[in-house]
Amino acid sequence: MIQIKDLHKSYHMGSNTLHVLKGINFEVKEGELVSIMGSSGSGKSTLLNILGMLDEADEGEYILDGVPIKNLNEKIAAKYRNEFLGFIFQSFNLINYKSALDNVSMPLYYKGIKRKERNEKALHYLEKVGLADWSHHLPSELSGGQKQRVAIARALASDPKVLLADEPTGALDTKTSYEVMELIQGINDDGKTILVVTHEHDIAQMTKRIVNLKDGIIIDDSPVEQVRAKQYV
Ligand code: ADP
Ligand code: MG
Repeated sequence: MIQIKDLHKSYHMGSNTLHVLKGINFEVKEGELVSIMGSSGSGKSTLLNILGMLDEADEGEYILDGVPIKNLNEKIAAKYRNEFLGFIFQSFNLINYKSALDNVSMPLYYKGIKRKERNEKALHYLEKVGLADWSHHLPSELSGGQKQRVAIARALASDPKVLLADEPTGALDTKTSYEVMELIQGINDDGKTILVVTHEHDIAQMTKRIVNLKDGIIIDDSPVEQVRAKQYV
């Protein structure tokens, strides 16, 4: 589903250059649930933004569902982004003056789907995340965990091939974090390919494979069972 080869990314600020990604190689197969772990500043969001086509690498290859992602014009990039990718953010990024239902149906509007079908689909995905009864509430009337569920329903609504989540539990308490991760596990059980960025070990251990990023390179990439086993030797 995702193949990246020798990916590099630097930020330039005046005469300073910050080399953030220093040759990243990895593959994600369809149906995987992978976490990208690393301390703050290790380049996790930079990597996820490149995978999400929100940013471009300086060097290297990125192939998404067989399509080389390079030098695409903004229109084609936007088309692939909408078709292939769903995003979940730490801060939920919901529209405050719109109901849960309208937040979820928004991406469908941009796909040209008619109102009736939009609302039916949005309600279907709100049901999936356990919030059918909250469809007419505004984000301000929802708890943090509920807001993130709405954001997950919104990400699912366009049936993307890959879900990308950047610290999806970063703004939630421990219990709510685990509930959101259980929801993400369930969505993966239905076959969705999911990448979760986190700096928390317990959250990473709720995925199936942990990719460890440090100083711009991958220092470890292991199935979760192996990571758990290592903790006890
Ligand atoms: P993480 O998500 O792992 O905390 P980031 O990918 O956000 O790390 O950032 C990696 C490094 O790149 C940090 O030192 C950060 O300050 C820097 N950085 C991120 N985005 C930019 C930007 N747009 N311009 C300049 N520096 C940036
Ligand atoms: Mg980050």
